[in-house]
Amino acid sequence: MAGIYIHIPFCRHKCSYCNFFSVVSQKHRTEIVPAILQEIDARKNAINEKVETIYFGGGTPSLLSVNEVEQLIDKLFASFEIINQPEITFEANPDDVNPEYLKSLKQLGINRISIGIQSFREEDLNYLERTHNASRISNVMSAIVGAGFKHINADLIYGIPGQQNEAIHYNVSRLLDYPLDHISAYALTVEPGTKLNHQISKNKKPDIEESAITQHFYQLSDFLLAHGFEHYEISNFALPGCYSKHNTSYWYQKPYLGLGPSAHSYDGNSRWWNISSVSGYVKGVNEGKIPLEKEVLSLEQKFNEFIMLRLRTQQGIDMQEVARLFGPSWHNDLRKAFKSVENTQYIRWQNNRIVLTRKGFWFSDGIAAQLFRG
Ligand code: SF4
Repeated sequence: MAGIYIHIPFCRHKCSYCNFFSVVSQKHRTEIVPAILQEIDARKNAINEKVETIYFGGGTPSLLSVNEVEQLIDKLFASFEIINQPEITFEANPDDVNPEYLKSLKQLGINRISIGIQSFREEDLNYLERTHNASRISNVMSAIVGAGFKHINADLIYGIPGQQNEAIHYNVSRLLDYPLDHISAYALTVEPGTKLNHQISKNKKPDIEESAITQHFYQLSDFLLAHGFEHYEISNFALPGCYSKHNTSYWYQKPYLGLGPSAHSYDGNSRWWNISSVSGYVKGVNEGKIPLEKEVLSLEQKFNEFIMLRLRTQQGIDMQEVARLFGPSWHNDLRKAFKSVENTQYIRWQNNRIVLTRKGFWFSDGIAAQLFRG
């Protein structure tokens, strides 16, 4: 089974912390959908498996008109073998959506909405330079529920300077006022090149505090577990049976095709990513050659990615799968490497799997590095 990701690279405004590829200029706004439709034609043989999930991400997909979304969905169904009732997720900003728009998306077959709430506190939204305000959220959530969506994810950001334990409790308990079945909670990070990085370096905004972030991670997890959610991946919580199928396929290294500027693809052996430029992408499509970079993965790279991605999940590393995919010798090496990092507080052996404890989730990158080859 495979997934398709469509990247819509426009935003009304650039949030201070954002390092996703998106532009505020609307110069090529009307050209993007025709270009992606052409890219679909060019890539229709890129995946040989049935498509199980479709994901509209960005940027801001909710800047597309209903007609543009319909053109993209129709083209995907005409070009790929897609299972009955695939999971189709659509990222939306609280600013852009209204009841009619949401109902139209539902009628097009979109069955999962991911809404970028981030916080219910005005001071947090101001720090992040989000364009919506907290009072808008309840109208938007009513509209999503009113349109008939049963699968709703909300994005939340924690670790914003000024947040105390009460703020985390307030944000996460306000989320549960709504019938969400999935919550993605991300620690704020200050990425090089972002406006936030510049603001902090010039002392125009307070810096993040690592120790508070770690504590808030555990606080969030405790709260959501107590309310019936599973902490099934470091940054993701879901009610039982409501995991994001699309994101899960990334962690399980299933093939996916990314369409649009900067979109990444993976076919099981190699990875490629389209140029991160809207004009370069549109020009490339029109000339019949989209600029991209490609990397063929060695077995060692695949193994290290396998370790890193599986450790992010509640299921951890299945040792039988390691033996099947990488052979008995690498399986035995991993077993030995595990012995050297074994620590019941952070990582343990459980039913022939290596799993991180909830505490260990926070240290997953460092622990994974100790299990890598090479
Ligand atoms: S809306 Fe999302 S993609 Fe756009 S600038 Fe803000 S964080 Fe980045």
